Amino acid sequence: MTKFEIRGLRADVLISEDERQEILKGVDLTINSGETHAIMGPNGSGKSTLAYAIAGHPRYEITEGEVLLDGENVLEMEVDERARAGVFLAMQYPVEVPGVSMSNFLRSSVSAVRGEAPKLRQFSKELQGAMKDLSIDSSFAARGVNEGFSGGEKKRHEILQLELLKPKVAILDETDSGLDVDALKIVSEGINRAQAANDMGVMLITHYTRILNYVKPDFVHVFAEGRIAESGGPELAAALESEGYERFVKAGA
Ligand code: ADP
Ligand code: MG
Ligand code: MG
Repeated sequence: MTKFEIRGLRADVLISEDERQEILKGVDLTINSGETHAIMGPNGSGKSTLAYAIAGHPRYEITEGEVLLDGENVLEMEVDERARAGVFLAMQYPVEVPGVSMSNFLRSSVSAVRGEAPKLRQFSKELQGAMKDLSIDSSFAARGVNEGFSGGEKKRHEILQLELLKPKVAILDETDSGLDVDALKIVSEGINRAQAANDMGVMLITHYTRILNYVKPDFVHVFAEGRIAESGGPELAAALESEGYERFVKAGA
């Protein structure tokens, strides 16, 4: 049983050397293993900032609060330690790493997180199996990381990483954006497989209720103006779909 807790988290984005802006204004959220929490909210409300702040992106500075994984302070860990501890982030805009093949990249990530390099043949088998499950052509293993990938291919590769790394908690930032229905199903099945395999907690950041038909949330949170404005069950997502976010956003904000 894993408990991932975000308590009173405040963070600034560092815009330039002498300019910063507070984006996260006191975020509280607890995710237990096996739970899926959907985070929904308007553009610019700070959802990606929350994901980056937890992952340790240097552009964001935590000014208050804590993030605990089974009582251990994630914010005191180096970025690679966070991954080793079991925190996974699928970015809204996955980065391209030309010149590094997908298979090498994935094998090093897996080695770093598991603490030992998997045997090459065993890893190749594992990788091919996971790629097949995600309908990724085997030729992708030799391609540069995300290099020239379509939006949907990048998202599928984020889930490939997820399935290989087996984190305790996965933060998925708009992993559903830009996917057609078939790709959405494939990606959703991957998330559900990873969750079933190791009782992972999921923070699913999304704009659309569409993915929630495939990845069933236990809780839905409305994120507005840097904090969670309301929490509820799946019915809240349905309400948002029909009403929008208007009542959560202050006029003129
Ligand atoms: P969301 O993911 O909910 O759409 P973001 O976390 O991406 O929102 O952005 C929240 C706010 O922080 C926005 O107003 C955005 O412009 C600002 N912001 C985020 N990153 C930066 C940055 N690197 N430089 C300047 N402003 C930023
Ligand atoms: Mg679930
Ligand atoms: Mg975002």
